[in-house]
Amino acid sequence: MNKQLRAEMVRRALDARSTSYSPYSRFRVGACILTDDGTLFSGCNVENSSYGLAICAERNAVFQAAFAGKRRVTAVAVSSDEQGFITPCGACRQVISEFADAKTEIILVNAAGKTRSVRFGKIFPTPPALDKLKKR
Ligand SMILES: [Zn+2]
Repeated sequence: MNKQLRAEMVRRALDARSTSYSPYSRFRVGACILTDDGTLFSGCNVENSSYGLAICAERNAVFQAAFAGKRRVTAVAVSSDEQGFITPCGACRQVISEFADAKTEIILVNAAGKTRSVRFGKIFPTPPALDKLKKR
């Protein structure tokens, strides 16, 4: 990925935190994903008073991409207000795996905008996957 696109993903992931709905945890998360046609989708975490119904920023972004008809995720950036680097939770790793592969770049962004990158295969090496049915 070129430097400019990577920087744009980082900026959007950081910006997406501003729309986080997290009144219960006050833990804001923003994500930006890149699909194979070069489109970017952002997402924030959205909590609920029934805690289990919350959705993470990464899944929010992936589902928006799916709704837009995209089927390949080539990079994911995730940010928070932490000085450290947060990684996608287990549920998000499973959802990302539906549209990504081992080479997909996961860009971890801290509150200051510093980044670390990891390949998806490193953080989710053996995704369970069903065979897809052929279209009828
Ligand atoms: Zn998650």
